[in-house]
Amino acid sequence: MSEGLVTRIERYAAYDGPGIRTVVFLKGCPLRCQWCSSPETQHKEQELYYDGELVGRYMNVEEVFSEIKEDITFYNQSGGGVTLSGGEVLLQPRFITDILKRCQEEYIHTAIETSGYGSWDNFEEILEFTDLVLFDLKHLDTGKHLELTGVENTWIIDNLKRAAKLDKEIIIRIPVIPGINDSKDNIVKTANLAEKLGIKEIHLLPYHSLGREKYNKLGRRYLLADLESPSDERMNYLKELVENKGLKVQIGG
Ligand code: SF4
Repeated sequence: MSEGLVTRIERYAAYDGPGIRTVVFLKGCPLRCQWCSSPETQHKEQELYYDGELVGRYMNVEEVFSEIKEDITFYNQSGGGVTLSGGEVLLQPRFITDILKRCQEEYIHTAIETSGYGSWDNFEEILEFTDLVLFDLKHLDTGKHLELTGVENTWIIDNLKRAAKLDKEIIIRIPVIPGINDSKDNIVKTANLAEKLGIKEIHLLPYHSLGREKYNKLGRRYLLADLESPSDERMNYLKELVENKGLKVQIGG
């Protein structure tokens, strides 16, 4: 039975997919997004907060599934299910595939949230057991993407194109970071790409600084310390840009 490193499991979540969900946050991510609100999920090893709290727990598939299955009644009543999130799910492909497979055996709706940064072979295997893909796209410009996240987006876009050819529901999610990726140009280009690939929905996730305190607890510096969340007016403007392309848009995830 495969085992993996989990940051935390949140029950009764009303985000990261439809209905009431259990969200399993994995540990380990190859990106270093400047705005990341979950820095405790980035390193792929266990680590300690300054207060001595351990971050990361090794769990096997049945241990994770036994928490997930507690809420089957809620999933059925609300049209919910399970979402595997990051860190980055593509870093632990065997573990993720086994959890998704286990959930589908019990007819639980499965979603993953991914940056799309990983090998296609791993991604394809995971997709086989995934009902909904929440695919984060941070910036369409390769150079900017590298500057902002530490990696280029070539692999990511390629994986998105390949995934779009499969019969899967995909929602593109853009974290809206003021002055960083919220230009009309970037949002319209992302909407154009979605339209071209037959993807029908985009979620615009307004930046928030709720993760700031975690950087202190990890002894790391938060680069965007002075950045404010985008205004409602700005979010509605961006929403309209995407709607004009005939896509469904939601503010927030
Ligand atoms: S991809 Fe997600 S978890 Fe990874 S650094 Fe970026 S925001 Fe954080």
